[in-house]
Amino acid sequence: MTRLDSAIRRLTAQRDLLNWAARHMAPTGLVLEVGLGNGRTYDHLRDLMPGRSIYVFERSPAAHPDCYPPDGYLLVGDVFETLPAFTARFGQGTAALIHVDIGTGDDEANRQIARRLSPLLERPLQPGGLLIGDRPFNMPSCRDISAKTGVPEGRYYVYCRE
Ligand code: SAM
Repeated sequence: MTRLDSAIRRLTAQRDLLNWAARHMAPTGLVLEVGLGNGRTYDHLRDLMPGRSIYVFERSPAAHPDCYPPDGYLLVGDVFETLPAFTARFGQGTAALIHVDIGTGDDEANRQIARRLSPLLERPLQPGGLLIGDRPFNMPSCRDISAKTGVPEGRYYVYCRE
C-alpha cells in the first residue's frame, strides 16, 4: 500500500465513522473535537449536526479561515490543561460524542499521549456517550465497540461509555 493509499483509507474511515456517530449518538449532549488541525473534521461535524454545541480543543490554531468555531467554542491551549478545565466548568458526563485526532508520526509519543489522555476523556463522556479516536485508548468505564461500526480493524477506534 502506498502512503497515498494509506492516507485515503484513514480519511475514509474517519469520515465514515463521523457519519456513523451522527446516526448513533444520543439526541442530547455536547460534542468535543480534540485537535482542530485545518478544520476538516470540525467542518464535517458541524455539517452533520446542526444545532449541536461543538467545543474544539487546539493548542496552535491554524485552520482554514472558514473552519473556525464561533466565539467561546475554541479552547486554545494544551488539551492536558484545557480538557480538565472544561470538565471542571461543565461537569462530568456532559458529552454525547468526543472525536480525538491529535496523533503525530511518532508511535511511542502517540502511545504516551493516549495513556495520559484516556482518564481525561473518560470523565466528560455521558453514559452511552461515544468516543472516536485515531488510536486506542484505555478507558475502563467504556466498551470498545470498534468492531460493530464496520470500520476496518485497527484503523480507527470507537468506545461507548457504560
Ligand atoms: N482532525 C483535524 C482535521 O480534520 O483537520 C486534524 C487534526 S491534526 C492531525 C492534529 C491537531 O492536534 C493539530 O492541529 C495539533 O496542533 C493538535 N494538537 C496536538 N497535540 C495537542 C495538544 N496536546 N493539545 C491541543 N492540541 C493538540
